[in-house]
Amino acid sequence: LLLVALRPLFFFLLPIPLPLLSLQIFINNEWHESTSGKKFPTYNPSTLEKICDIEEGDKPDVDNAVEAAKAAFQRGSPWRQMDAPSRGRLLHKLADLLERDRVILATLETMDTGKPFLQAYFIDLEGCIRTLRYYAGWADKIQGRTIPVDENFVCFTRHEPMGVCGAITPWNFPLLMLVWKMAPALCCGNTLVVKPAEQTPLTALYIGSLIKEVGFPPGVVNIVPGYGPTAGAAISTHDSIDKIAFTGSTKVGKLIKEAASKSNLKRVTLELGGKNPCIVCADADLDLAVECAHQGVFFNQGQCCTAASRVFVEEQIYPEFVKRSVEFAKKRLVGDPFDARTEQGPQVTQFDKILELIESGKKEGAKLECGGLAIEDRGLFIKPTVFSEVTDNMRIAKEEIFGPVQPIMKFKNIEEVIRRANSTEYGLTAAVFTKNLDRALTLASALQSGTVWINCYNALYAQAPFGGFKMSGNGRELGEYALAEYTEVKTVTIKLSQKSP
Ligand code: NAP
Ligand code: MG
Repeated sequence: LLLVALRPLFFFLLPIPLPLLSLQIFINNEWHESTSGKKFPTYNPSTLEKICDIEEGDKPDVDNAVEAAKAAFQRGSPWRQMDAPSRGRLLHKLADLLERDRVILATLETMDTGKPFLQAYFIDLEGCIRTLRYYAGWADKIQGRTIPVDENFVCFTRHEPMGVCGAITPWNFPLLMLVWKMAPALCCGNTLVVKPAEQTPLTALYIGSLIKEVGFPPGVVNIVPGYGPTAGAAISTHDSIDKIAFTGSTKVGKLIKEAASKSNLKRVTLELGGKNPCIVCADADLDLAVECAHQGVFFNQGQCCTAASRVFVEEQIYPEFVKRSVEFAKKRLVGDPFDARTEQGPQVTQFDKILELIESGKKEGAKLECGGLAIEDRGLFIKPTVFSEVTDNMRIAKEEIFGPVQPIMKFKNIEEVIRRANSTEYGLTAAVFTKNLDRALTLASALQSGTVWINCYNALYAQAPFGGFKMSGNGRELGEYALAEYTEVKTVTIKLSQKSP
């Protein structure tokens, strides 16, 4: 993996035919070939070249990983006997290694996803390191309560680890979404079986080598690359997996919940899609609102569940807002993600689906202000696209686009925009731009979404919970709230021989 990572930086020195390399499955702190003997390729979306092959995990490999994770969770195992501060120390050590190997990890992420290197380095890796350190601190602070019950009883709760946790991750933030699951799971004392997205498995596999180097006992973290309907489904239907955390599409989220209920009723947390309203009131700081809405929708090539993909602008400022948004979009630099000036790289996948949605916008009568086309190149590049005169019934106003497309709508008053913003099956994030405190708080309480940002966008912190209302998901990641998703509450009640004083 190191060679894979370093080749774009030092390709003169490393004329190694990397496509001949094959990465393996990580179980019990060892590397394995797939049981089936099959491999699958991962590509660089900037060049469409194959980066390397990966051993393709399927049900038998997931079974092996689950056996390892179960054994690591057995009563009396090194992991179960490890005290809580030591678990915290291991998470801090893992954060140290991410800091040490930050350039390598950011390079791998950029090669595999096409996201600009500087964003991978400063945003994805920073988020991973902070999340690991945050949960490292929690490891020895997970406490139950003492509960007053009848007089001669003592009652207290323990927050115990759930057992073997499955993690199925997406391709838009491959490492960050893994760390959002891995850090709280390990901090609470669980073991893990991970399936990274088939398009972007490189950073997860690199983490395998760091897990071993840090000294986590064998079987605590197992990583099985492979496809969703095979390896992913083997995790979601597995009777010995106690909990599953998933980030991805609403469609697959439903399949996972169904598989959980048909198998062992494993706990499920889901972080799914969004069609997030970004509401710009006439009194807003227009420079701030235009820039935040722009970054909110175009960041990460538009491949964000938090994307500001329904911008509602109050009618008095609508023409000016559209004009300035178009200026921003036209200036956005699209190109080689390893070029430090680049703001937008290629799409990881779903290129045709995004272009089809852009076409639907044109056909349904939205006004194409700029972009609207792919960029003629070898990779999967799409021009930053802005649509004005968008109405709520258009597909670009209803469907998750997951690409660099900004639909801008108009509104007249607050009650109307609340009703329209909430009329979606999703409820992940919302943003409000206004200088009026009363309006800001009215909107914050009326909007049906797990997060509301006021005068900011994508303000995500390891300390603050993140998750969705409605079909944007179940449960919360990050913050203290996530600990509840990785622990079972045990109530212990003791009858005393005497009444307490
Ligand atoms: P997806 O199919 O939901 O993929 C997410 C993960 O689930 C991948 O690891 C995938 O494996 C796995 N998976 C697929 N089918 C599965 C199954 N039957 N059982 C268990 N796991 C399964 O998402 P996608 O197709 O890559 O993207 C589609 C849409 O999902 C996007 O347009 C976007 O709307 C949404 N999405 C949301 C997020 C987010 O951050 N919430 C992230 C990515 C995508 P494979 O690698 O084989 O697909
Ligand atoms: Mg790839």
